[in-house]
Amino acid sequence: MNSVRAEHPAAGAQVRPLIAELEIRQRVEELGRQIREDAGQREIVLICILKGSVVFAADLLRAIPGDVALEFLRAKSYGQSQVSSGKLEILQDVDRDLAGSYVVIVEDIIDTGLTLHGLQKLFRARKVETLKTVALLLKPQQDHQVEVDYFGFRIGSEFVVGYGLDWAERLRNLPYIGVVEGSS
Ligand code: 5GP
Repeated sequence: MNSVRAEHPAAGAQVRPLIAELEIRQRVEELGRQIREDAGQREIVLICILKGSVVFAADLLRAIPGDVALEFLRAKSYGQSQVSSGKLEILQDVDRDLAGSYVVIVEDIIDTGLTLHGLQKLFRARKVETLKTVALLLKPQQDHQVEVDYFGFRIGSEFVVGYGLDWAERLRNLPYIGVVEGSS
């Protein structure tokens, strides 16, 4: 991967590539195989946490062999800024009863852990049989006690974009993950 800073015309921001497309693809394939291995023959219900996880969930879905269902949940904890607002709000819920199911929460990135903490509480209350969590990225500081069963990459505390992750709704379409270093 070229490590030279690239000007992204859509946002006017400097994006420094951090994790290459190929690296992500290979890791997602490994995660998919691992998740299936652990679940055995069970139907896996992936819960895609909108919007940031949509690209990851779409790739992960295809990387898991066997019986897999996909549900969406939209939760908000960041708003339009790069600073956590500290509160989790459910904006759109799943549309099936998850009692007795083998559920895997699909998160884009864990920062403080606040979002995941709230989500895990929510799904446990719904009496799922098994609750697993996969996060593509882990940031170093987790204030809230959360269990992450699978993760793609550990990163630093920098603000990242691409592969579904946004910067004020932009840059989700980058096929790689990068660090925003400037703004227009
Ligand atoms: P947490 O609740 O763990 O502090 O934050 C999780 C959510 O904040 C993620 O699902 C994501 O939407 C957002 N977030 C945290 N760090 C970043 C980041 O570096 N880039 C982007 N685009 N979103 C982030």
